[in-house]
Amino acid sequence: MKITFLGAAGEVTGSQHLIETSERRLLLDCGLFQGHREASRLKNEQFHCRPKDLDGVILSHAHTDHAGNLPGLYKAGYRGPIFCTPATADVAAVMLYDSAKIQAEDARYLRQKLTGPHPSVEPLYDESHVEGVIKRFETLPYGQWHELAPDMKVRFTDAGHILGSAIVELEVEDHKTRKRIVFTGDLGRRGIPMLRDPVRVDGGDVLITESTYSDRIHAPSQDIEMNLEGIIRQTADRGGRVIIPAFSLGRTQTLVYFLNRLFNKGVLPKVPVYVDSPLSKEITSVYRRHTQDLDVEFQRTLQTDQDPFLFPGLRYVQSASESAGLNHLRDPFVVIASSGMCETGRIVHHLKHAVSDERNTIVMIGFQAAYTLGRKIQERHPYVRIFDREQPLRAQVESLSGLSAHADVEDFKWWFQRLIDTGGVGEAFIVHGEDYSRRALAGLLENVSNEPPRLPQFGETFEV
Ligand SMILES: [Zn+2]
Repeated sequence: MKITFLGAAGEVTGSQHLIETSERRLLLDCGLFQGHREASRLKNEQFHCRPKDLDGVILSHAHTDHAGNLPGLYKAGYRGPIFCTPATADVAAVMLYDSAKIQAEDARYLRQKLTGPHPSVEPLYDESHVEGVIKRFETLPYGQWHELAPDMKVRFTDAGHILGSAIVELEVEDHKTRKRIVFTGDLGRRGIPMLRDPVRVDGGDVLITESTYSDRIHAPSQDIEMNLEGIIRQTADRGGRVIIPAFSLGRTQTLVYFLNRLFNKGVLPKVPVYVDSPLSKEITSVYRRHTQDLDVEFQRTLQTDQDPFLFPGLRYVQSASESAGLNHLRDPFVVIASSGMCETGRIVHHLKHAVSDERNTIVMIGFQAAYTLGRKIQERHPYVRIFDREQPLRAQVESLSGLSAHADVEDFKWWFQRLIDTGGVGEAFIVHGEDYSRRALAGLLENVSNEPPRLPQFGETFEV
């Protein structure tokens, strides 16, 4: 049996791993490469897995870096099943339609703007390809083995990373030898709000593990609720606005859930809260349809609160005109909008109107990549460029860490312990992380895998 790493090898986007036996070809995840436009475009257009010849695709979760190129795979001729959990199918459908829409808008904009010879600005795929993907979803509930073929079985267990996320266990037979493969997908954390803890699984022959934050320890997430309450209260007392950049999938729902808890406790300051993102609204509806996949605390909340994603004073903003209208409000309010790194989306407008007023507070809750507007705000640059205009940064800036949905060192150690207790793993492959975090994870795997862990490069094939 062979495994070829076709993405997320030494980087954190484009997750895609090919498993081949003498009989079958299976793809784990089909993520979008993100980053520099031209280089990513090339990587996203060229599949190295012969899409038409694949027997199946297994999707660990709906984040773009794991699912975002499924329509591209369909466009390249793939017509087989795509296995995932029911919640992942629903979240992925929303995300992929949104991705097709944004690509079409970008292409239109660039066609108008670019003159002279330039690389292709065509979208990678369109809505018809997304439709094709959605028809091919075959959903499997958590915890049940499913026979993909007589020589291949799969089981999903909760990865605790986002709604629907799964750890993939595979049993594959080749030349009468049975092998057990465990793929972490993205591994979540213990004790974070709303999501259940990752499920620990038994060891086996092969482990493919992510490594995003294997070099750090996250702050506990309990403090965030209290900090948020304090920030909103102080900002409202000054007559200012609270601006929170947040990604539409996961972060926004968690924030709303925190605010809802504060409301239920009677301590949420009485200021309007706007979730200014049609995509967040749609994803939140998916969360509402799959509450059975959320944690015990959430189930308890449901007994007294029918909808933990809604409270008096909260409004989901749909239209662009209503969004623009928020900028003319005089009284304090809270707005949550995407994107989380402030590069695109409605948040940019809110920042434009808010950064130069010292009464306002910008709350950074997620990782801010280098050179993004979000990073510049977080580092408190005296001036920031928004829509081609330099503006002084006078607003207060608060950073709340602890909302990461990726396992940290302690989570990895805890999760690996079960592998050790059940005989460890034969071989381990470390993916989905910069090289320094992959090396850090290799250290943690010392007692887990029989062989020294491997750090595959793009396109590298291993016989297992
Ligand atoms: Zn993820």
